[in-house]
Amino acid sequence: MSLNDTIVACATPAGYSSIAVIRLSGKQAIEFTKKIFQLGEKVDDVQPHRSYYGTIVEPDRNKVIDKVLTAFFFAPHSYTGEDVVELSCHGNPLIVENIINIFVHLGARIAQRGEFTKRALLNGKIDLIQAEAVLDTVYAPCDEARTLAIAQYEGKLSQKMYDCKSKILDLLAVIEASLDFPEEDDVHLDNVQLRHDIEAIIADIDALLHGAEIGVKIKEGYKVLIMGRANVGKSTLFNRLLGYDRVIVHEEPGTTRDYIEEGVQLSGLLIRLIDTAGFFTEAQGTDRIAQERSEQLIEEADLIMLMFDGSEPMNERDVFLYDLVKDRTMILIINKIDLNMHLHESEILSDSVKLSAKTGQNIDILKQTIKNVLIPQFERKNILLTRQRHIDALEKIKKYLHNSLQAQTLDTTAYELHAALEIIGELTGQVARKDIIDKIFEEFCIGK
Ligand code: GDP
Repeated sequence: MSLNDTIVACATPAGYSSIAVIRLSGKQAIEFTKKIFQLGEKVDDVQPHRSYYGTIVEPDRNKVIDKVLTAFFFAPHSYTGEDVVELSCHGNPLIVENIINIFVHLGARIAQRGEFTKRALLNGKIDLIQAEAVLDTVYAPCDEARTLAIAQYEGKLSQKMYDCKSKILDLLAVIEASLDFPEEDDVHLDNVQLRHDIEAIIADIDALLHGAEIGVKIKEGYKVLIMGRANVGKSTLFNRLLGYDRVIVHEEPGTTRDYIEEGVQLSGLLIRLIDTAGFFTEAQGTDRIAQERSEQLIEEADLIMLMFDGSEPMNERDVFLYDLVKDRTMILIINKIDLNMHLHESEILSDSVKLSAKTGQNIDILKQTIKNVLIPQFERKNILLTRQRHIDALEKIKKYLHNSLQAQTLDTTAYELHAALEIIGELTGQVARKDIIDKIFEEFCIGK
């Protein structure tokens, strides 16, 4: 793979669409485009950051391929840092193929996965954390994950790492000066201050690591279990939250077998909603394997929504299920408030969400409650770690900083601080590790 090549790829999904975008990047991107693009207006030459309407004509046979809109970006002011052309044609795969083939014929090469972003990285337009954020922005499964991804793309996490790096460099400058010139009065190392400064950096890292669990969950989704005895309205609520009839609702108790899982976005969060109708039945109480599976399901859940039927008094089964999950993160729901209430609210139900799964009354309150319970208010900041690679790196940096505090000599302190710097470099991509970079770009699609 050479950086000297001009690369081309379709940036939009394969198939028919109103528009498809073809991208070119490299030294000859503009030259190649000019060979096949006839401008609809009379201009001396194309200007950067401007779109032009015109016609793509195959040079050899003078065959008109399509009417297109073409935008030109001149290096270094482009996504990749190279000359870039973005060409919007009609979204017919035949047109896309034709245009790409013409570019290849002229000397362009089909881009590899993520090669546009990789070039942006190699040309210093973005760092590795930002490159990963591009991928996370494209594939964010919910609005909160998108918010985190875009904040990282804007460089908020990178900036934290650069601040950390610059603080360590400042410390190293003082340490190394005092190692090199031990006699100089000017170069006085204050050990207490040094310790204090290193501890402050560790505290910054800890603050980032603190939100990691939530960041990863936001990206991967929260498991939320709907529980309750037969016929309280679990499947009705499941369908209501999904917004369509995923589960067959039946008048007879116990009509849903086992459990059903569906992903849904609720209040901006990806929720893996699990309807347990028919799973926590009395019959299963005697089946050891089924019991173990229920325990596992409860264990793995991030949140349990335990539902009661407000139109009926509470019975032993309700109490049994409550006892089963009372120590877990839980929302109590009283359903069927559209009917006459016969459930006498005892202590445990005072803090419940009262709703009607059938009519949809108070469903919005439930959605907001789910979000409030899953993400505590103090965690609602936009720098949350979402990738294991980042978490692992920060853990390592923290370990080296701790080692530096325990070091017996200044030399060792400096050694440990350098080790921490090395990891920051790997994290941001400034220290290029081919294996890390290749692994990240394997996840990309072609054209990004
Ligand atoms: P599950 O066994 O807990 O999954 O209960 P279903 O969702 O299958 O509902 C059992 C019965 O209760 C069905 O007839 C539903 O239409 C009814 N139902 C569910 N939610 C409500 C509600 O909010 N109000 C009323 N009136 N009926 C409901």
